[in-house]
Amino acid sequence: MENVLSLQVKFIHPGKSSGVLFRVRAAQGMYAQGETPLETQADNSREIFEEILKKTRAKIALKNSDISEVLLQMTYDPSFISSMLKGVEEGKSLKTSIEEGIAQLRMKSLKMEDLFFLEKLREFEILAQKLLDVLNALKIEYPEVPFILLIENPSPLDLLDAPENLLVGVISKDVAEGSHTAILAKQMDIPLVVVKQGWALLEEGKNVVIHGNKVSLSNASAQTLTPLSHDHMTRPITKDGSLISLFLNAAFEKDLDFLSFPFVKGIGLFRTEMAFFNKDEFPSMEDQRIFYAKIFEKAGSSPIAFRVMDIGGDKIPSYFPNAPEHNPLLGWRSIRIALDRPLIFKHQIRALLRAGAGKSLYILFPLLTEASEFYPLLDLLETEMKREQEMGHPLPIKIKKGVMIEVPSFAWHFHTIAKDIDFASVGTNDLFQFFFGVDRMNPHLSKRYDVLSPIFLSFLKHISDVARENYKTLSVCGEMASKPIEALALLGLGFKTLSCTPQALTPIVHMIHSLDLKSFKAYLTPLLGLKEHSLREHLKAYAQDHKIDLGE
Ligand code: PEP
Ligand code: MG
Repeated sequence: MENVLSLQVKFIHPGKSSGVLFRVRAAQGMYAQGETPLETQADNSREIFEEILKKTRAKIALKNSDISEVLLQMTYDPSFISSMLKGVEEGKSLKTSIEEGIAQLRMKSLKMEDLFFLEKLREFEILAQKLLDVLNALKIEYPEVPFILLIENPSPLDLLDAPENLLVGVISKDVAEGSHTAILAKQMDIPLVVVKQGWALLEEGKNVVIHGNKVSLSNASAQTLTPLSHDHMTRPITKDGSLISLFLNAAFEKDLDFLSFPFVKGIGLFRTEMAFFNKDEFPSMEDQRIFYAKIFEKAGSSPIAFRVMDIGGDKIPSYFPNAPEHNPLLGWRSIRIALDRPLIFKHQIRALLRAGAGKSLYILFPLLTEASEFYPLLDLLETEMKREQEMGHPLPIKIKKGVMIEVPSFAWHFHTIAKDIDFASVGTNDLFQFFFGVDRMNPHLSKRYDVLSPIFLSFLKHISDVARENYKTLSVCGEMASKPIEALALLGLGFKTLSCTPQALTPIVHMIHSLDLKSFKAYLTPLLGLKEHSLREHLKAYAQDHKIDLGE
C-alpha cells in the first residue's frame, strides 16, 4: 500500500529514486552549511573538544617528523587550549570558537614582525586547523541500504561524504538552484528536492519514493528505480546548418562515460576540487597526479579543460577550513587563494604537468577579477614547467591556457588579455550573481533576477563579440548552457560552444535540432534593447510558434 504525502515540493534537480529516509542528527556530528548540529550543542562542547584533541594527538603521532613532535607538545599548551575554547565560554559553538581562534592567530601573524614568533603562530594555526578537520570529520553511520538524505541546508560536502552508491536522493528545506550543492546533485544525477510545506511529516527510517512531482511514502523495500535514460542522439546541427560544439562539465571519473556519445567533443569544465573535497587532508601532489592520469587515460584523445582548484565560497573542503567570512561568495575563494598560497597551486600544476606528459593539457583559471591576476599565475606555471624540465620529466606536448569569465570586472578587462590566452569560458553562475549583486546561494532571491534579462544578455553578447574579434574560442560552462531556453538565448547571442552537465545533453541537442538559428538571431537582437525585466516569456512564445523543442 502506498501512502501519498501531500507535501509541497520543488525539484531543484528532478529524477526518480527510492530509499530509506536518513535524517542527519546532531549526535552524529554531521555538519552542514549554516547552523551545524555541533553548533547547537554548546553544553557538551568541552567533551567534544577533549575527544577531538585526543584524536588529533593520535593523528599527529602517526607522522614521524620534527614538526609532529612540536605539534604534539603544543596540544598540551594551556593558553592554546583556552584560546580555542574562548568562544565556547561566550556561549558560541565549538566550531565557531575554533574558527574564531584561527582568525585571531591569523590577525596576530599579520602584525608579527619577529620571525621566530611568526613561525610559532603559524604552527599554532596548523594545529588549530587540524582540530577543526577532526571536528568536521566526526563520521556518520550511514544506512547500508539505498537512502535519501533528509537535511535542512545541504552543502556539497554532505553529498560527497555519503557513500556514493547508496545515496539516491536529497530532500532539503532550503537550497538554491545556483548553489554548488544543486550543481553537484545534477552532476551526480541524484534528485534534489526542496520541501516547502510538510517537513515535519518526513520521518527517519520510512521508505520514500521520489518520482515526477511527488514525494510519497512507501512500504515497499527500498529499491532504486531505473535512472533516466538518454535517447539516441545525432550531431548537434541546427535546422539551418550551424554546427554547435558540445562539451561536458565533469568532476568525477564516471562522468567521462558520457564522452562515448559521438558528438561530445571533450570536457569543457573539469571541476578538479570535487574529487578531493571530502578528504581529511589536502591531496598530495602524487594523489592528484594519479587521479589526473586516470582522467587523461579515460578521456583518450578528447580534450579536457582542467579548472584549477576552485575552493572557498560555498565549497569549503574539510581539509581547508576558512575563517568565517561575512560574504563568503565575495570572499577568499578560488584563484585568490592560489595567489596567496602559491604552494597549493604549484602542487596542482606539477601534478597536471606530470599526468599530462606527452599529451595536450588545457588549464582553466577560474574567478579572475582583473587581468593583472592572470600573469603571476602564468609565471608560476612557467616556473613549474622549467622545474619539470630540469628534473628530466617530459612535459605535455602542448599547454593551452584558458580563463573563466565569472566576475564583471574581468569581463570588462577581457579584451586586454585576449591575446595572451588560448580559450575562455563564461561561468554564468558566478557572473550572474556578481552582475546583479545577488547571492547565488540565497533561495529567496533565486527568482528575483533572471539570466534572460536584456541587460545580462547584452553583457554576454559583449563578451562573445570580444572573443570573436580576437579569434578566441569561447564557451559557456555555467548552468545556462544546460537549460534549453537559456542555451537557446546563448546561441542567439553568437555563442557556438556549450559545456553542459551530462544529464542536459539530450534536451540541449533536441533544442538545437529544432532551431533555425539565423531567424532566431534576427528576432533576438532587437529585444536586447528592451527595458523589460526578462525576455523569458518572449523566448517561450517564439519557441512555441517556431516549434523549437525546449523540453517543457
Ligand atoms: C560558474 O560560476 O558558472 C561556474 C561554472 O563555476 P562554479 O559553478 O563551479 O562556480
Ligand atoms: Mg564559478
